Amino acid sequence: MDLKIILKETFGFSDFRSGQEEIIKLILNKKHVLAVFPTGAGKSLCYQFPAVILPGRSVVVSPLIALMNDQTAYLNSLKISATDKTFLKTRNLSHLRSLKILAGKIHSHCRFRQNQDTLQSFLKGKVKILYISPEKLMTEKILNEFKKLPIEMFVIDEAHCISKWGAGFRPEYEQLSQLKHLFPQAVLPAFTATADKATRWDIAKKLTHSKSKIIVKGFNRPNLFLSVEPKHNWKKRLLEFLNERRGLSGIIYALSRKETERISEFLNNKGFSCKAYHAGRSAQDRQKSQDIFMTEDGMIMSATTAFGMGIDKPNIRFVVHASLPASMEDFYQEIGRAGRDGEQADTLLFYGLKDLITRRKMIQSGEEDKEYKLRENKRLDALLAYCESSDCRKKALLSYFGEVCDNCRFCDNCLSPPKRVEGTVPAQKFLSAMARTGYRFGMGHIIDVVCGIETDKVKSRRHHKLPTFGKGASHSKSFWEVFARQLISSGNINIDIEHFGALKVTESGGDILYGRKKFFYKELSLSSVVQKELKTKKANLRKEELKAEDQPLLSNLKKLRLQLAREKEVPAYIIFSDRTLIEMAILKPQSLEETLSINGVGKQKLELYGDAFLKVIKNHQK
Ligand code: ADP
Ligand code: MG
Ligand code: ZN
Repeated sequence: MDLKIILKETFGFSDFRSGQEEIIKLILNKKHVLAVFPTGAGKSLCYQFPAVILPGRSVVVSPLIALMNDQTAYLNSLKISATDKTFLKTRNLSHLRSLKILAGKIHSHCRFRQNQDTLQSFLKGKVKILYISPEKLMTEKILNEFKKLPIEMFVIDEAHCISKWGAGFRPEYEQLSQLKHLFPQAVLPAFTATADKATRWDIAKKLTHSKSKIIVKGFNRPNLFLSVEPKHNWKKRLLEFLNERRGLSGIIYALSRKETERISEFLNNKGFSCKAYHAGRSAQDRQKSQDIFMTEDGMIMSATTAFGMGIDKPNIRFVVHASLPASMEDFYQEIGRAGRDGEQADTLLFYGLKDLITRRKMIQSGEEDKEYKLRENKRLDALLAYCESSDCRKKALLSYFGEVCDNCRFCDNCLSPPKRVEGTVPAQKFLSAMARTGYRFGMGHIIDVVCGIETDKVKSRRHHKLPTFGKGASHSKSFWEVFARQLISSGNINIDIEHFGALKVTESGGDILYGRKKFFYKELSLSSVVQKELKTKKANLRKEELKAEDQPLLSNLKKLRLQLAREKEVPAYIIFSDRTLIEMAILKPQSLEETLSINGVGKQKLELYGDAFLKVIKNHQK
């Protein structure tokens, strides 16, 4: 059968897009398949086309009502039954001639009668493709009727909703895992744009006992420019960004309804046409905003994640994240709405610590179980790694989805590489702590081991006896957090979300560990995070005066100063002033970075004396 000719005759497209034909052939051969294709790749055709040419009936499950409406209207507008008679006959497609209605829909926004009629037409074979919401399908009444029919296939669109591993789990989707038992003859093709490895396996397991052939099509969207900026003076930056893009359409995503309203007001005052869109606004208002956005150019949507599912506007030229998305999957899906026409589109994410804390709190305060929260936290970690990457952003993004790529030469970091510092030795310390603990632990525990912190967990596993224990104690915990994220985003470490976020070394990470490759990290973001943390710590501690119990520490510090002064044959105050030593005794810095924040400690003195003074402080604390 020449599929291409039939495609032209029925859907009017002159060729398949990459990946489509492979999926279609598998379905026509009755093979279960799970297709993970990026948004806009053309997943719908992969099941619509076989649904049209297979002799029997098909069911399509979708969670999106708007999408069901669009697709049934679209399919019926094709007027396939009017296709040339001889054409259909020579291709064994004569059944299409007598077809009354190609596609129907059953969901909660249709009237009761309408749903009844559609069901009857489908049962009688007058409707060939039925779009239905999962909760309507999984009722006893409908399932019993369907069991009497020869149904060719049940298509699961937006299949990630079935998995608790993925972003966007829906309980009503979980029921769909019964389909394989109820309809053992039917093919179960599934489609999604966002599923990491763990989620893919989980979907296949639930739907077909892992019998689905998993086909992943590149996540790379070469026309999307990726950039991240610190969320600092960001409204000014936003205006600059938008001024360069006047007259173009775009979306600004924010965390809360309130924030979308504030952004919208701000931009309207600055002469932009912007509408706020979130679940708190009436359905009518949202529809109106969406209609304007879809049909007019130069409009900006300031929206929560409620906006964008299933919209197909080809010329969205930019997506800005005013605050941190929930996960890498969400981020990918949201930026994926830009540039569907293949022309250049820009993405910009403002990354700030406050949003990070809000996100963490949102996860912690949810009703879900502990395991789920842990996983969501790991997802967020992966996103942070992307934000803090000093390497190509595209590389960081794609490596999360298990794809390897070269530097894109078209992202902020590729175009203006941040200043990088060699960190091969600390990287080896970190990787070695991972190796010595059997690659079974998450970031927090590895950092405890590297920093030499004797937590209960460390002691119970006897990790304080490891040779790597405390090897990185001269750096602070926050240094290690940022450093480790850079190791992750540069593809040297993988987070195993299935196994509680255990850190695994990759091939290139192994090269660093065994000295075959050097590692460079971005210094800037490290110091900015550390410095910020220290400022508050300092502000709090500065208020305190030297306590009596710190007197012995001060005299030990003075002893060291005297000893050093004698060695160097300089007056004591040249080493450090009294005030500096007092501050040290109050603040008790734990790392070189922290010591640097003490008044009177500069980079040079830090290098000369930092370690010696740190040692005195640490000994005192023991
Ligand atoms: P998604 O993968 O996000 O579900 P869709 O199925 O909605 O993507 O397809 C996106 C767009 O691509 C639609 O407008 C669709 O008509 C178009 N499209 C799909 N396949 C082809 C093709 N082979 N040739 C031309 N356009 C296509
Ligand atoms: Mg789709
Ligand atoms: Zn790049």
